[in-house]
Amino acid sequence: MYYLKHRPCLCFFEAVVFNMRMTSIFKNFSKVQSKIKAAELASGREPGSVKLLAVSKTQSADKVSALYQLGQRHFGESYLQEALMKQWQLGAYQITWHFIGPIQSNKTKSIAACFNWVHSVDRLKIAKRLSQQRPENLPPLNICLQVNVSNEVTKSGMSISDLPELVKQVEILPNLKLCGVMAIPSPQLEYDLQRKPYQMLNQAVGKLGREEMTTFSYGMSGDLDAAIAEGATIVRIGTAIFGRRKY
Ligand SMILES: *Cc1c(COP(=O)(O)O)cnc(C)c1O
Repeated sequence: MYYLKHRPCLCFFEAVVFNMRMTSIFKNFSKVQSKIKAAELASGREPGSVKLLAVSKTQSADKVSALYQLGQRHFGESYLQEALMKQWQLGAYQITWHFIGPIQSNKTKSIAACFNWVHSVDRLKIAKRLSQQRPENLPPLNICLQVNVSNEVTKSGMSISDLPELVKQVEILPNLKLCGVMAIPSPQLEYDLQRKPYQMLNQAVGKLGREEMTTFSYGMSGDLDAAIAEGATIVRIGTAIFGRRKY
């Protein structure tokens, strides 16, 4: 395993703490998997129709490696430099990398070259750059348009009303594959309130009539069930697997 190869001299105490941490990740991981299965069942979804994206931002390559050994292949990152470092550390692994964080223009080149998916495309300028900068030897970059469903000024994402126009402009870009939408609603504790923003977005996507838009990147640790009930095909889970992030 990665951590054994690269850290030959763990002291005994370090090793014990490390094992405890990994054990809790394993437990959390299987809990999340069961939760997804149960939610699929409860909402009449086909088993296996919801893909788990493990959000590993701020988490070490060791932890990514540990999950990988358990079969997890899709990992999500939000901070480019940190992600590139992890990709380098885990270069031998067959990981599908998803970029899910806010994107500044000066980051698009590396993102286009180093990721398989980008969930957080929220304006035409960024989409154009990603398409232009996608290396020719790679297949089209899979993207989702990030929609701001809670209309908070501080959150990134286009408004629902801008979605139809953006879809028209993005779907013709040659090196992108427009797969669907991503949303991060403002946190709510109540199940029905958690479902509302996804329902709104589902309606808007339905009106577009685009058969190729089949990806719904909905749901995080706090609203997994509601998101799956509303058709999530990818859930982005960090905390429920890795525990609280330390920044
Ligand atoms: C951090 C992050 C997540 C994971 O959130 P958790 O609450 O830790 O599960 C999901 N999606 C995006 C876009 C994120 O930035």
